[in-house]
Amino acid sequence: MNDYVIRTRGLTKTYGPIMAVDGLTMDVPRGRTFGLLGPNGSGKTTTLSILLGLVVQTSGSCSLFGDGVTQTEALHRIGAIVETPSFYPYLSGRKNLAYFQGITGRGNRDELDRLLDSVGLGARANDKFHTYSLGMKQRLGLAYALLGDPEVLILDEPTNGMDPAGMAEIRDLVRRLGTGGRTVLLSSHLLHEVEMVCDSVAILSRGKLIAQGDVSELLGAGEQVQLRTTDDARAKEALLMVDWIRGVEEEEGYLVASAPSERSGEITAALSGAGVYVTEMRPRAKTLEQYFLEVTGGSEGGPG
Ligand code: ATP
Repeated sequence: MNDYVIRTRGLTKTYGPIMAVDGLTMDVPRGRTFGLLGPNGSGKTTTLSILLGLVVQTSGSCSLFGDGVTQTEALHRIGAIVETPSFYPYLSGRKNLAYFQGITGRGNRDELDRLLDSVGLGARANDKFHTYSLGMKQRLGLAYALLGDPEVLILDEPTNGMDPAGMAEIRDLVRRLGTGGRTVLLSSHLLHEVEMVCDSVAILSRGKLIAQGDVSELLGAGEQVQLRTTDDARAKEALLMVDWIRGVEEEEGYLVASAPSERSGEITAALSGAGVYVTEMRPRAKTLEQYFLEVTGGSEGGPG
């Protein structure tokens, strides 16, 4: 059964002549870590802001937790970081969290230590916020988003501006937060980040949805077989005659055929029929980056 916690239908937002989100129809499955992937300016923040009621759409609709759940009820079940909360620099992490717990009424005081531990800040909870690294600040933001143990977490570019070590920490944490039935909706302009953290993805380009589905399925659709042969020119010619091979490229001394790896035997047979022998062959999954360039026709910048 398909069970979606967030659904949008023809969601559109214009700012004067700018089409920030253009007819977006997207389904976020329950319990998954879902990536909203697109380059800067593709409409990710605007989409998340509409879902959170921070921006009103021009047309189209979105539903959270299904029909009959009001937006106020829904927002109680969602933790989010779209704009980093303005923590007080001279208060400790724990005092900041206690303050925001008090003013938002989310969760309760007893859970603060557990939350700080769960984001790896237990040992630094009493240190002042201004002494934290960017990664620690972001982790405190995550603790804030986790107040009240929300069913859904919405995170806008959670690793933005971080160094590689900080990024790795946050990705590990987000992966963990997405287990145990919680749904995570994360935006990113970094293809490899989505590939590492998410199991489903929607790809946006200039406000429009380009593709959506399981990361593994989208990548499976772009499967390739890499090979070396006794005569690459003849091999290429022969493979291009096979109707289920979508293309053949030469890359770094290899021939790369866009074809499912389970048909490797047929590739070998087609080549030996043309008098060419395979000396090396291995399957190659496409990276999300290659897939992204393919579906956007190479018009987008790729990873930032
Ligand atoms: P980024 O990662 O750079 O924030 P994004 O994918 O989140 O990119 P949005 O911030 O949603 O994209 O922006 C989509 C488009 O809408 C951009 O062209 C942006 O300039 C425009 N836009 C967003 N907010 C506003 C606003 N308040 N007023 C005018 N234009 C806006």
